[in-house]
Amino acid sequence: MSRFSFILQATDGAARTGRIDTPRGAIRTPAFMPVGTAATVKAMLPESVASTGADILLGNTYHLMLRPGAERVHALGGLHRFMNWDKPILTDSGGFQVMSLADLRKLDESGVTFRSHIDGSKHALSPERSMEIQRLLGSDIVMAFDECPALPADRDRLASSMHLSMRWARRSREAFGDRPGHALFGIQQGGLEHDLREESAAALREIGFEGYAIGGLAVGEGQEAMFGCLDHAPAMLPEDKPRYLMGVGKPDDIVGAVARGVDMMDCVLPSRSGRTGQAWTRRGQVNLRNARHADDPRPLDEACGCPACRGYSRAYLHHVTRSQEMIAGMLLTWHNLHYYQELMQGMRDAIAEGRFSEFEAAFHAARAEGDIERL
Ligand SMILES: [Zn+2]
Repeated sequence: MSRFSFILQATDGAARTGRIDTPRGAIRTPAFMPVGTAATVKAMLPESVASTGADILLGNTYHLMLRPGAERVHALGGLHRFMNWDKPILTDSGGFQVMSLADLRKLDESGVTFRSHIDGSKHALSPERSMEIQRLLGSDIVMAFDECPALPADRDRLASSMHLSMRWARRSREAFGDRPGHALFGIQQGGLEHDLREESAAALREIGFEGYAIGGLAVGEGQEAMFGCLDHAPAMLPEDKPRYLMGVGKPDDIVGAVARGVDMMDCVLPSRSGRTGQAWTRRGQVNLRNARHADDPRPLDEACGCPACRGYSRAYLHHVTRSQEMIAGMLLTWHNLHYYQELMQGMRDAIAEGRFSEFEAAFHAARAEGDIERL
């Protein structure tokens, strides 16, 4: 069995391109991971997701442990087989979603107990149980169990939370064990406090992980503050390991993060907005609910090769969105995931060819033009 490895192929400024190799296939970086919360990227067949260019999906431990249950998925052959996706899967640790979704949480040194937002049943998560669930699911990239405070948070709260997360990171490392071909990523915390981020990075490096995530961002601090943090945070992490920015983001967040040295990202945005009539294009965001599209025979983006743009007009997309037809979410999710993956490929090529700043300038110029003129 091949092992988990990362090679850095080229850099351009702080931006990097490379490749993660796993027994289930390669992940080209910078990589965008579509989110398959409940063992599905909503409105998409797995082969359709793969056809957009996605090398890896993200699954959510919190959702899967509650329904259908990690032991059940394991008995059915693991998450890859269960959802018919044979490429790599990264699972989060469950910590973040317990904090944001579950009821009646109780947190202490050992972990967190909570009630399910689905049926009120009582559950517990700890570093050890999170590692066990992610192993039962068969995740290729496992995330350390951490705590992520909402921002703004005061410095004492950020510091004590980060220290707890570092103790949990060590317990995660110990519980993960020796699993060739699988990776465990540690998660840097510390909010927007530079020195806490440094301290967190040092603690993680001392434990040692196959990759490193930048956690605790994209939680309401705004793009400027996030970029301010990313001007420093990636460089605190080992250069020869992948760096993953969790939960990001909009296309301009992604380009800005790659410019600052991030290798992997995930976000529900392209799939979620596809189900609410929102499309992301080279020229920015387009709301298909808007009446201006009702008589427009042109495609959403004439340069896009996705099924929504090749086969359908704006008028049709407007109609099925307004009529709440299922095909609306299917087509717009496909387009959005296609656009995101094309953006990633464009960045990978630009970094490899040493023209990332030109790419960035062209990206912003196209968005500044706005959507095509109305008919
Ligand atoms: Zn398209």
